Amino acid sequence: MSVLPINIFGDEILRQKAKKVTRIDDNILKFIEDMFETMKFSDGIGLAATQVGKRLQILVADISEVEGYEHTKPMVVINPKIILETGESEMEEGCLSLPTLRVNVKRPEKIRLRYNDIELNEHIEDFEGLQARVLQHEIDHLNGRLIIDYLSKTEKERVKPLLDKMIKREIEVKYPITTYQVISK
Ligand code: ZN
Repeated sequence: MSVLPINIFGDEILRQKAKKVTRIDDNILKFIEDMFETMKFSDGIGLAATQVGKRLQILVADISEVEGYEHTKPMVVINPKIILETGESEMEEGCLSLPTLRVNVKRPEKIRLRYNDIELNEHIEDFEGLQARVLQHEIDHLNGRLIIDYLSKTEKERVKPLLDKMIKREIEVKYPITTYQVISK
């Protein structure tokens, strides 16, 4: 297993939509193991494939280190689709691709999710609380959406200097990140 470098704000892949997974091979299984390794190493509770360089609809989540969620099993979620949303809750979120930034995000409190497991079997399951929140955050990643997209215009102005620093990698992080690349258009 290896710890993969995490894409940071500014990397184009974070704005791209992930593609459906239609078959699982050894490369994908190895990649999923690496995703878990990377998530643990970075003290994250969720990670989407697009955050570590692959445009595939895969996310991993593990909230068992969080108080009150010790019995929640780690999850591999493939090709997720939210089919029902209820309620609303607001919570502060962070993101491994937006180091040091914390923002309040309003999301549905409960979701019904259709997804595939690692053998591509289909499941429909309801989630709530922190688990629903992490899943929604990671599903956003698979759609090229980030937590800053929930900010108001004024809040966006406020965080812009920090975002500029992220682009230039003028930030300190404890986990491996991708290097700053000038993208020629
Ligand atoms: Zn994130």
